[in-house]
Amino acid sequence: MIAIDMHVHPGTKEYLVDAGGKYLADALAYFHKKDAVVSVETMAKHYRDLDMVAVLLAWDTETQSGLPPVTNDYIAEIVKNYPESFIGFASVDPWKGKIAVAELERAVKTLGLKGLKLHPIAQAFYLNDRRFYPLWESCAGLKIPLLVHTGTTGVGAGVPGGDGLKLKYARPIPYIDDVAADFPDLTIIGAHPSWPWQEEMLALAVHKTNVYIDLSGWSPKYFPPSLIRYANTMLQDRILFGSDYPFLSPERWIADFEKAGFKPEVRQKILLENAKRLLGL
Ligand SMILES: [Zn+2]
Repeated sequence: MIAIDMHVHPGTKEYLVDAGGKYLADALAYFHKKDAVVSVETMAKHYRDLDMVAVLLAWDTETQSGLPPVTNDYIAEIVKNYPESFIGFASVDPWKGKIAVAELERAVKTLGLKGLKLHPIAQAFYLNDRRFYPLWESCAGLKIPLLVHTGTTGVGAGVPGGDGLKLKYARPIPYIDDVAADFPDLTIIGAHPSWPWQEEMLALAVHKTNVYIDLSGWSPKYFPPSLIRYANTMLQDRILFGSDYPFLSPERWIADFEKAGFKPEVRQKILLENAKRLLGL
């Protein structure tokens, strides 16, 4: 295994079409990936050929979008069929309240999923809203990381009104910062370079050691210098490779990463070692 890709969506119809609706149709157009739908077999072969393991993410925006989720059972089934290629992260819709908490417990204890992925913009909620604190308590109790989208998003991008989605929910401070402060035992991964709040995310990760950053969704070619500087120094043990497949391919990401100014001694930590430690592998 040469790398762990910490941020991978199923490139299948179940995610891109059924659960994604107009939101992901617009995301695919925004990323110039109109014909992205593949089979699970193709996706597994893609990662096997690259000698990488992919962290595969469920998706549930039902309250906000009215669309069906990519269920935790669907992700668990893929992991069961391709254990050499995939590790599964659950998703729940925070607005489902007690049902969401119970579903998370089931997804981890019964289905064997290893983390929780949330998208505050697509799910239209603030992380620091006290109504959702039982979910963060549950994550901490289950000892699983919380992977949370930060910064702007391809979802609903490039159309008038952004499909009605609001970017405010994905600001690191105060939303992630509050939860990181209130749950020091909870590991939180801020997904993506957090534009336009990159400096906030870096400050938050420097201040709180339970906070990690995944670098998915952007080619390293476009990373701001501050992100590369902190990845090379103070944050080198808490920065993680992620592609955001199928929107960005892992091979394109790695090719651009090699040229982006990361120190050779830090490279292996970002691609593999930090994720291994985080996932307890
Ligand atoms: Zn993503």
